[in-house]
Amino acid sequence: MHATIVVLPGDGIGPEVTVAAVSILQSVAQRYGHQFDFHECDIGGIAIDKTGEPLPVATLNAAKQADAVLLGAVGGPKWSDPSAKVRPEQGLLAIRRALGLFANLRPVRPHPAALDASPIKSELLQDVDIMVVRELTGGIYFGEKKRTTDSASDLCSYSQLEIERVVRTAATLARQRRGHLVSVDKANVLETSRLWREVTARVISEEFPDVKLEHQLVDSMAMLLLARPRDYDVIVTENMFGDILTDEASMLAGSLGLLPSASLGEGQAGLYEPIHGSAPDIAGKGIANPYATILSAAMLLRHSLGMDDEAAAIERAVDESLKAGVFTPDLARGGTSVSTEAATQSVMERI
Ligand code: NAD
Repeated sequence: MHATIVVLPGDGIGPEVTVAAVSILQSVAQRYGHQFDFHECDIGGIAIDKTGEPLPVATLNAAKQADAVLLGAVGGPKWSDPSAKVRPEQGLLAIRRALGLFANLRPVRPHPAALDASPIKSELLQDVDIMVVRELTGGIYFGEKKRTTDSASDLCSYSQLEIERVVRTAATLARQRRGHLVSVDKANVLETSRLWREVTARVISEEFPDVKLEHQLVDSMAMLLLARPRDYDVIVTENMFGDILTDEASMLAGSLGLLPSASLGEGQAGLYEPIHGSAPDIAGKGIANPYATILSAAMLLRHSLGMDDEAAAIERAVDESLKAGVFTPDLARGGTSVSTEAATQSVMERI
């Protein structure tokens, strides 16, 4: 198969971890007889420096034409003046919106070899395998904002269509996994949540009768996620609840450097990125953990290119590297550690 992948390294450790993921994709292409064309473009701080824009038109056009986009991270102290008109993160929001990416997928699967890196007791983490699906383009983050001298408000609104499409994405994933979907809302208080609950129940009963649906209030979900993480398969929720719950869920896996993500829309195209930021504190040192970006590349193969076997080969290779104790310093916790390049090489040898 022939595919075009746009690579957006971004800032800080972004270039270091995307180089790693691209080299793994190249090995997969070689091993399985595919041809991947990589087009590198600018986004974030580096794009501001070169063009004044966090998402240059050329980058957006390339992304629109590609089969998938792989992103590193954006931002850093150089561009963090809160009063600045253009900021690196605007590039990220703009590309998600322009590509119509409304579902953010974050798998959380603590690896047995890295359980000690999590602040949660390891016996609670055995066999945890959760997929959190967060609605990405609606809700309070995008509603009208108002400010008077002594008050402020943010409008939270959702349409049926916005809820239906993300619930379908989540239910399709649940069907491919263990068939269990938890929808998270605050239906005892919020009108948008009551609509969310109604629409979710209808979509599941009409289109996914084989998927077992459970509703949870967000406050109780926040507690259950830490108390009984093994009980959950796919969790779907609106934008702000998802933002908070996905960060909470990331602690189950210990290091930010292990967690990939995918942002999907209606078609096959998608944007894939590690959940961590640009880590300016370790940028340029060659010690960033590349596994999250390599695992994001595996999600790219699975969701945008339909290559399940190839994706599984990458995931297996990362698992084996972790099992063999090939840890970057964030995982080694003072023990023996390796560089970004050595960790990448270890995955490559296991493909
Ligand atoms: P961060 O994720 O960059 O770093 C938090 C901590 O985790 C740091 O100590 C860092 O060294 C460590 N870390 C992160 N990724 C790692 C990896 N792959 N390997 C080893 N250690 C890793 O979050 P932050 O420090 O809050 O933010 C730094 C910059 O990144 C800010 O400018 C922020 O706006 C930006 N940011 C960007 C994204 C994105 O591009 N999607 C996400 C979050 C933060």
